[in-house]
Amino acid sequence: MQLIFATNNSNKLREAQQILPNYQILSLENAGIHDELPETHNTIRENSIEKAEYLYNKYHINCFSDDTGLEVEALNGAPGVYSARFAGPQKNNDDNINLLLEKLQGVENRKARFVTYITLIIDGKQYIFEGEMRGSIMTHRTGNGGFGYDPVFLPEGYNQSVAELTPEAKNQISHRGRSLQKMAEFLRNADGSSAINK
Ligand code: IMP
Repeated sequence: MQLIFATNNSNKLREAQQILPNYQILSLENAGIHDELPETHNTIRENSIEKAEYLYNKYHINCFSDDTGLEVEALNGAPGVYSARFAGPQKNNDDNINLLLEKLQGVENRKARFVTYITLIIDGKQYIFEGEMRGSIMTHRTGNGGFGYDPVFLPEGYNQSVAELTPEAKNQISHRGRSLQKMAEFLRNADGSSAINK
């Protein structure tokens, strides 16, 4: 079965393809879709639903979307839904990390989590999967892998930032990896049942 993933982020596409090897996962670009997807809500969950509904309603294709936020306890859950544009509309990862480290300077409680909502729409039916990764914000960057806040995120029980993990190791424990694994399990269980028309 073909599924369009509502992203053009090559890291995310690779993650999804690794977790769903039996599906043909296409990015928006691969599918010839050049729309800017709407993200107009104040919650990650609603933005995830909005993107998948937009795609399904306009193109009638089986698809899934993800939306992620970093929630920092000492910042009352910020940057949350604003994670991509924390330091401004330029959506720059380096600027975002600098601002985060600045806001947490001298702060003892560095607990944080990533949370992802995936919305899958198949034959017009909608399914939502949530995944989280708990950890803390380091005081400086380490590692070159991953993207976004990975260089300053220390997963619980680890002594390396996410940017120091292999893509496979990240996939095992990450918010998106976990929500994709839930979706993969759902698809495996639905396969052969009448839930999904293949
Ligand atoms: P999105 O909804 O997946 O685009 O995520 C919003 C923002 O959260 C991104 O621009 C990144 O800054 C951050 N983010 C999302 N996923 C990750 C990740 O796996 N590692 C680090 N940062 C991430």
